[in-house]
Formats: sequence, structure tokens, C-alpha cells
Amino acid sequence: MALRLLCVFAHPDDECFAFGGALALAADRGVDVRLVCFTDGQAGSYRGAAATAAELGQLRRAEFAASCKILGVGQHEVLDYQDGQLEHADFSELAGLLVERIRAWRPHVVLTFGMDGAPNTHPDHTVVSAATTAAVHWAASPKRYPSLGPVYVTPRLYHQTQNYFLDGRPQPLPAPWTLKLDIRPVFQRKIDAFRAHTTQGPLLDQVLPIFEQHGQEEFYTLIATPDPQPATQSTDLFAGLSE
Ligand SMILES: [Zn+2]
Repeated sequence: MALRLLCVFAHPDDECFAFGGALALAADRGVDVRLVCFTDGQAGSYRGAAATAAELGQLRRAEFAASCKILGVGQHEVLDYQDGQLEHADFSELAGLLVERIRAWRPHVVLTFGMDGAPNTHPDHTVVSAATTAAVHWAASPKRYPSLGPVYVTPRLYHQTQNYFLDGRPQPLPAPWTLKLDIRPVFQRKIDAFRAHTTQGPLLDQVLPIFEQHGQEEFYTLIATPDPQPATQSTDLFAGLSE
């Protein structure tokens, strides 16, 4: 049995731009990695050759699968929520479908965005952060969603955070990090995974210089754990966890 990591986000390409280093490093050390993506990204600003929103969604699903392959992640699903509209989705339903997955799959580590919505402050990112965080807590509570499987206590929930801002964009309010991940061994794979999102090529052109300047590290904040403790600095998502 391997350690298990669940990563939850909103759009195809989030898996590489936000979490790519962490996911590739985890896959390389034999961690069983599973991804849940809430939308197929059909409201994206960059649309490639797609004539319709549905067509863009189909293209982006295929790009997402290609990116996951590069990162080494075998298990990934794209749900059917509407891109750009997550704040209007039913919160209890979003959290419930994650509670069900957490209880069934029993991840050691759950990763998601911070409530700031990541460098681009996307509201979908904030909603995913809220729903995933609630789901980790509610999966551990016998009073919540009793029909969705046996209670499960997730050992660690991390939020993604950052140490830089994007020029010319509204600035997020990032949480202080407790974990700095050196992603140099997989940096090129993170970029290659982004490149697999062909429709998002213009976006990659914009972020590549930023990644080259800031992208050798990823930052995370430990948000929830069953063991009361002071915040400490770490360099490993899985330190001290056993299968
Ligand atoms: Zn996104």
C-alpha cells in the first residue's frame, strides 16, 4: 500500500501551474495520486481552434489527460460543473461529493488552493478551497453526510500559497506558508505538462518568464491535522506519515 494524495482544483491546467511540482514529486516517489477537477475549462479566455464552448471543453479534457500523463498521475476525473460559475453551485453538494471521495479513498494528504484564489484570484479557485476544506473536516464528522461512507480523518490538509504576485493583476491575500517544496528536479516536467494544454499556449507564453524567475519552489500551508501543534516549517508534504 502506498501513501495517497488527493488534489482538488477547478480547471484543466490548475494541476500543472499550481500543483505540478508537488504532484510530479509525489508520483515519482510512488505516492498514489488522484485528482479531482470541477470543470472542463470551457469559459477559458484562450480558446485555441474551438468553435464552441463545448468543443473547448472537450479539447481541454484531452489536454488535461495529456498533462496528467506527463506529471505521472494516473487517476484523474473532470466533473461537469460550469467553468466560471462555481460560486453559484450548491455548496453542500460540492462538499458532499468530496466527502464521499475522501471517505472512500482515504488520502493521507489533501491539497487544494488557498482561499485567496491563487495568483489570479479566480473565484472558482476560492470556492474549491472552501468546499475541499469543509469536506476534509466533514469527512471526519459522524454528524455530517452519514450516508456517504464511514468517517475518515485526513492526516493533513494543505492549501497552496505563493511568494510573489503577478504584474498588472489584482493582488491576492496569500496565507503564510509552512512548507516550501524544492521542485527543481521536476521543474521541466511542470512546464512540459503546461505545454500539453495546447489551447492555453498564449497563457504559457505569459507565465513562462514568471516561472523561470519564481518557479523553482512551490509553497503550501498546513491547514488541518488531527494533532494540535505549533506551525513549523517543513520541506516535505509527507514527512512522518506512514502507509
Ligand atoms: Zn484555474
